[in-house]
Parts: sequence; structure tokens; C-alpha cells
Amino acid sequence: MELLDGQFVSKAIQDSLRLKVAQLKAEGKKIPHLAAVLVGNNGASETYVGAKVKACSEIGFNSTLIRLEASISENKLLQVIDELNNDMDVDGILVQLPLPKHISDEKVINALHPSKDVDGFHPANVGRMVQGAPSFISATPHGIMLLLEHYKIDTKGMHAVILGRSNIVGRPMSILLSSNSQPGNCTVTICHSHTRNLRDHCQQADILVAALGRPEFVTAPMVKEGAIVIDVGITRVPDASKKSGFALKGDVKFEEVAPRCSYITPVPRGVGPMTIAALMKNSYHACANRNEGSLA
Ligand code: NAP
Repeated sequence: MELLDGQFVSKAIQDSLRLKVAQLKAEGKKIPHLAAVLVGNNGASETYVGAKVKACSEIGFNSTLIRLEASISENKLLQVIDELNNDMDVDGILVQLPLPKHISDEKVINALHPSKDVDGFHPANVGRMVQGAPSFISATPHGIMLLLEHYKIDTKGMHAVILGRSNIVGRPMSILLSSNSQPGNCTVTICHSHTRNLRDHCQQADILVAALGRPEFVTAPMVKEGAIVIDVGITRVPDASKKSGFALKGDVKFEEVAPRCSYITPVPRGVGPMTIAALMKNSYHACANRNEGSLA
């Protein structure tokens, strides 16, 4: 079994971006600027946004964190997005999800200018990704593809089974893994809460991607010997032994599943850091597009 070390690969990607930013500076060109919008004070969201802003500063990107009250109206938030769309210094905008219940995620995502949508959630980017055209790809699935690419895992012809069909993870993952490219070219099955015989599907997987948000859902008997297991899940579970009062759990019961796998991602240090690396790559490209005078 080999560990897919997302922490290591993410650092390598961020190191290479740092060199590219230094080059931009030396050439007197614009440096990437990411604006992060955080609505309310959800603890997990605070942590995720904090990690993204920290990555920006370590790479040398400019970043702006816009904190808004949980009670902000939908119209006011749309106004903030509009201002960021029109701010010529801002290359990328990320709106940390989930948003408070009274605000429509869909309306907010649709309000982002596609050229600044570095999370790859806007329908224009999703559509282009489906067509295999250049686009911003949703950071978590993009990060997983970068991880497979780094480890030179040839997935051609493999059967990939994805647990979860969300718009931000499962669904784009199914498109990327079935695309006619390396590391795509798999045959894909996508499972959800209404899937019958889920265990049978899992047992047939050469690649199993778990993105349900159900801690330790995937157990050893569900996994084929030699499978590649990608654990996307991150759930905070109460743990009195931790200073924070919680532990982070993936969707895979790592200790019992790992010995069966050819490759597996740990939680933490697996998919999480790769999501940040992919977001940073997208932000760099958003800026590069603008440096080249292209808004696409
Ligand atoms: P989500 O929107 O809640 O989607 C969960 C999906 O899992 C849904 O499609 C749901 O099916 C399916 N599901 C839930 N319980 C199931 C069950 N018992 N059997 C089969 N399918 C089941 O979640 P998400 O946003 O995709 O996130 C999934 C997990 O990944 C979460 O733990 C999240 O924190 C984590 N995550 C991690 C990163 C990272 O950077 N590492 C990034 C994003 C998300 P239905 O569609 O039928 O409801």
C-alpha cells in the first residue's frame, strides 16, 4: 500500500506557484489577487478560509478576506459579488459554502463572473468542463486529479465508483474520471443515498472515491483487494482527548481499509491540502488570463 500524500504534493505545487509569482514580480506584471467571502462564523468554514488565505500569503498572492454577518441579506451579498466582479485588481473570488439558509447558493454562484470563478462552480465553467474545454474546475475534484497525475496512476479502463453526487465533488469527479484524458478514461458508476446494493458496487471498484460526509462509512469488506481509495470526507466528530474538542474523520475506516489498497489518501493530509493547491492553481490562471488580456 502506498499513501497518496496530499500534503507533500500540495506543497510541491505551491512551491512551483511561488516561483511563478516571483517571475511575475520580476517582469513587473500583475500578481494574483484572491478575494474570499465568508458569511457568518461557522467554525469549519473559518478554518477552511483561513487555510486558503494563509496559502495565498505563503505563495505571494494578494488576498482579501471579506467577513460578512450571517444576517446579511441576499441582495447585499449579491452587491458585494458585483463589486468584486468589477474590481480590476481582483482575479479570483471564492464564496465559502455553505451560506446561511436565507441565501440561495445558486443565485450567488450564478452572480460570479465566470472568469473570476476560481472554485469552478458557475454553470459556464461546469459546462465547459463537461465539454473538456478549458475552464476552472471545482477545486476538490481538480485536486484529486492532480494527485493521481503526480503519482502517475494510469486509470485507463479502470472502473471508478464514486460515493456522492454533489455538484462540488461527486458529479464533477464523475466527469473528470470518465473524460478521454489521463488520468481520466475510467468507466464510472456514481452512487447516492438511493443506490441499491451499494456494497456490491463498491466491491467492483478499481478506484473508490468516498464523498458522502459519513464518517468511516467505507469498511474493509466493501473494498476490492488492490483498489485505489480516495477519501474526500471531512467530518468533525467530538473527541474529548483533543484540545479542540473534536477529531477530523474521513468517510473511510482507514486502519482496516488501508491494508487492502494499492493506494489510499489519509485524512487529514490527503484531499484537503490538494483542494487548496487546486484553488491556488486556478487563481494563478485567472490572473495569467488577465495578464494576457483574456477574460475567458
Ligand atoms: P453533500 O453535498 O452532503 O453530498 C453528499 C452525497 O453523499 C449526496 O449525493 C448523498 O446522496 C450521498 N450520501 C449521503 N449518505 C449516503 C449513504 N448513506 N449512501 C450513499 N450515498 C450517500 O456533501 P459534499 O459537499 O459532496 O461533501 C462530502 C464530504 O466531503 C463531506 O464530508 C465534506 O466535508 C467533504 N469535503 C471535503 C473537501 C476537501 O477539501 N477535502 C471538499 C469538499 C467536501 P443524495 O444525493 O441522495 O442525498
